[in-house]
Amino acid sequence: MACARDIWEHPEIGEQEFYSSKRLADFLESHGFTLQHGVAGLPTSWVATFSNGEGPILGYLAEFDALPGLSQEAGSPVRKPLKEGQPGHGCGHDLLGTGSAFAALGVKEAMLLNKISGTVKVFGCPAEETLVGKVYMARAGVFDGVDIMLGWHPGSENAVTFASSLAMTSIKFRFHGKTAHAAGDPQDGRSALDAVELMDAGVNFMREHIIDEARVHYVITSGGGAPNVVPDRAEVWYYVRARRTEEQKPILEWVRQIAGAAAVMTRTTGEEELLSTCREVLLNDPLAQLLQENLQQVGPPVFDAQDWEFARKLSENFAKPDSVPLDTTITKLEIVPPDKWRWESGSTDDGDVSWIVPYGRITTACSAKGGTGHSWQVVTCAGSAVGFKGMLAASKVLAGAGIDLLTQPKLRQAAREDYIKKLEGKTYECGVPDSLPPPSLRKPAGAAK
Ligand SMILES: [Zn+2]
Ligand SMILES: [Zn+2]
Repeated sequence: MACARDIWEHPEIGEQEFYSSKRLADFLESHGFTLQHGVAGLPTSWVATFSNGEGPILGYLAEFDALPGLSQEAGSPVRKPLKEGQPGHGCGHDLLGTGSAFAALGVKEAMLLNKISGTVKVFGCPAEETLVGKVYMARAGVFDGVDIMLGWHPGSENAVTFASSLAMTSIKFRFHGKTAHAAGDPQDGRSALDAVELMDAGVNFMREHIIDEARVHYVITSGGGAPNVVPDRAEVWYYVRARRTEEQKPILEWVRQIAGAAAVMTRTTGEEELLSTCREVLLNDPLAQLLQENLQQVGPPVFDAQDWEFARKLSENFAKPDSVPLDTTITKLEIVPPDKWRWESGSTDDGDVSWIVPYGRITTACSAKGGTGHSWQVVTCAGSAVGFKGMLAASKVLAGAGIDLLTQPKLRQAAREDYIKKLEGKTYECGVPDSLPPPSLRKPAGAAK
């Protein structure tokens, strides 16, 4: 608990999680795991390994990045920033990382106690929120050779996550024009902001002609400094999403063409910077089934009167408060074929991992029902008893399933066969070219000529 709380107290955004990453790695190292730091060229990534002789390799995914601007006191049912404007664990990754580490520790103890051979690894994956960590780790082959991967995400219900997530690309478009006095000699200027605006207009017209399930959104990250100066630089940051990578790619190509056309129209030049791109999650039926059985055995988190009181008060802030604010049930698992899969509206870089190794994940109640993700309401839960109780339940489920997988070759075999089936003959290809370093290690825009 101290580890999760400590990470919660030191919220750091993606690729900057120096304290949090080390805290979790040190925790595992002090419990007998061997650490390899800075894998895939990501300074805050690591792999922690415990081996008990020849045998299968079981992996757990850990994350620890926070979100900007969500600083919030723990356990307070009202908005109360600890440090105004500072980051906060609005996605509960303090719990996610620690919960996965706990699960691996449980498996390690069971391996020693019962002479189970094999290896358990925890993958310290930075920058999930920007979908960077696991994608760059996947590209570097960090997950190769793992037999089964398990993971979880703090949520507000207790369930096996039998839903995929959207394939997504995070990409910036920068335009370069010519500055001039906007009133004095506008004829000599070429506005980079015009290019951004025309590009956005073009994309908004494109929307009518793409599939319903696609999601395209943008922010203008730079658009000039004053109206009387023709901006010679402007930048817009896009997320382009769709269910399957093959549906997402053509939409991304269309967006790229619109960017090029906007540059032509405005007599500016443009360039793109690909930040990351991730795939949809491949669901694994046998792993989902196994996780469900373990979830039922462990049971939902047990909350006390204080937790209920806190959750009730907190949910008064929600647009749609739930009359029973804490989930103490287990959602029924319904396994369906790929053409009937449910899709989460967000994206996760777990997707790339699921294309490399059979992958299963769960969620447990770590916050009040009816709230939204990425909010101060999640931060307050993720640093308090409600969050910690949800995390412990998740750890036990993941540990139980892990021990089953290490000791029962048939389960691993079934998961592997299902994974091969879900690949439908395709092989994993990372969407980020080998030449691109992780975003935080690139030269600042415009530094290189
Ligand atoms: Zn998250
Ligand atoms: Zn998130």
